[in-house]
Amino acid sequence: MTMFKCPYCQTEYELIWARLSHQQRSYANCQVCQKTMYSWSSRNVPCFTLAKATESKPAGDKLAEAKLAKGKTPG
Ligand SMILES: [Zn+2]
Repeated sequence: MTMFKCPYCQTEYELIWARLSHQQRSYANCQVCQKTMYSWSSRNVPCFTLAKATESKPAGDKLAEAKLAKGKTPG
């Protein structure tokens, strides 16, 4: 398996090559920044699959911390 990085936003894709019986001229847009990250004109065409994105945690954690701080019983 080959990895491909979007040159614009560095998003990682898994790259699989497919072989067609005819020449294809096409391009692939990044699913994140929508820019054309790759174009080809051949019988070997790439198939991009978005690699597992590292999910950024929602702000919920910070909220919980704030609640904990407030929850301190005075005295
Ligand atoms: Zn991108």
